[in-house]
Amino acid sequence: MSTTSADSQPGDGTAVTSGSNPAELWSLVDKTAFRDCVHCGACVAGCPTFLETGSESDGPRGRIQLMQAVVEEQIKLDGAVQKHLDLCTQCRACEASCPFDVKYGQLFWTFRAAADKAGLAVRRTPPFEQRLVPRVFSRPDRLRRWIRPTRFAQRFRLDRILLASGLWRMMPGRWGRLLTLLPRREKRSARLPHVLPAKGKRRARVALFTGCMADALFRQLHWETARVLQENGCEVCVLRSQVCCGALHHQAGHLAEARELIEQNTRAFAANDFDAIVTNFATCGGFLRQYGSFDMSHFGGKDTPKDLEARRRLSARTGDVCEFLDSIGIVPPHGEIPVTATYHDACQLVHAQHVRESPRRLLGKIPGLTLTELPESDVCCGAHGLYSFTQPEMADRLGQRKLANIERTNADIVVTSDLMCLLHISRAARLQKRPLRVVHPIHLLDLSYREKPFRP
Ligand code: SF4
Ligand code: SF4
Repeated sequence: MSTTSADSQPGDGTAVTSGSNPAELWSLVDKTAFRDCVHCGACVAGCPTFLETGSESDGPRGRIQLMQAVVEEQIKLDGAVQKHLDLCTQCRACEASCPFDVKYGQLFWTFRAAADKAGLAVRRTPPFEQRLVPRVFSRPDRLRRWIRPTRFAQRFRLDRILLASGLWRMMPGRWGRLLTLLPRREKRSARLPHVLPAKGKRRARVALFTGCMADALFRQLHWETARVLQENGCEVCVLRSQVCCGALHHQAGHLAEARELIEQNTRAFAANDFDAIVTNFATCGGFLRQYGSFDMSHFGGKDTPKDLEARRRLSARTGDVCEFLDSIGIVPPHGEIPVTATYHDACQLVHAQHVRESPRRLLGKIPGLTLTELPESDVCCGAHGLYSFTQPEMADRLGQRKLANIERTNADIVVTSDLMCLLHISRAARLQKRPLRVVHPIHLLDLSYREKPFRP
């Protein structure tokens, strides 16, 4: 590929220059790492944005070549190049399918951190990300307050009117999108206690990672997760000192805030001894598992060997709840759930954490439940983090693609292990006026253990 792709013409965006020494600007980036890519193209067919646009520059190989050309100063990081990079969902499907072990995620984040640091980024960061991520997303209580207007609309069913009439598109800023994305209000749940004892003989002592958005929007799922773990002989601890994992801050380029959160969590979990740190949403789990591979100088901080060791230990102990339960062997669930379900692989679980079979195996143990395979189950649905807000058009295209595949299965429900996928696929269905329930695997396991009926 030439250094400037056919559909990426430097000059059609905001060309960026800097008075600094270019060699210094890219000093954070290991330029040799780009040469690991031999341009074989094995990763291209699984890339969601390439599947949608068919453009080489919207695929992993093209993006790697663009980044390499920029750091080698063959092309400028202008608006056109940035557009192709910003369109990346950061799903890491390419990384998982690369036979040469090219660490696309690492290349991408290092490149972006260096560009940000050098003042080269021309990313047109929407005000939504710029202002709200550091102020709102770190704290579930703030998030709850911030979404109050949309909850008010839901309470008086205004959301349904806005949705049915299409008027949500005319709402200011990103409120319309937020309104269509939020789940229905659930009954307010109490905060989980600090310790929930194991049922029967204790088999493990685990920490439950509660996160920020997850706690604000899906606290009920934390209760369900704790119950399922207890049922399987686990004592569940909920640390009050834990905070948001920092994934959204990292994605939005708020690296200093991400660093603070990473350090806080590392301190919180290092002070306690657990058999595992269990996550129930893939985004949080995927990010916690990366703590140990981060170089804090990319986040504007410094690392001592002790800090790095503590982060590595945290990452090594972190695991998805289905993966963890599958590894210890679960008590067979007994309540019948007579539905046909299909499973969507959340990118941050299947690609970032390599967890594919565990959720399917657990679902297969629920009496009455039939699991049917979803075509393109591991192709990103367009939900990752804030992608739905920063790249709404592509996010919607990927959401509709996912929905079309779901319809091919004739399943009654969709099961997935990530909060953002759950919200995004539900939204895609609502906009198409198609009744579709999207649930977490733990929700079904909990119902089965408690012999409660599933309400579609
Ligand atoms: S990233 Fe890996 S799979 Fe993709 S083109 Fe490069 S070497 Fe091939
Ligand atoms: S991370 Fe996902 S969207 Fe980005 S290049 Fe890789 S496969 Fe494509």
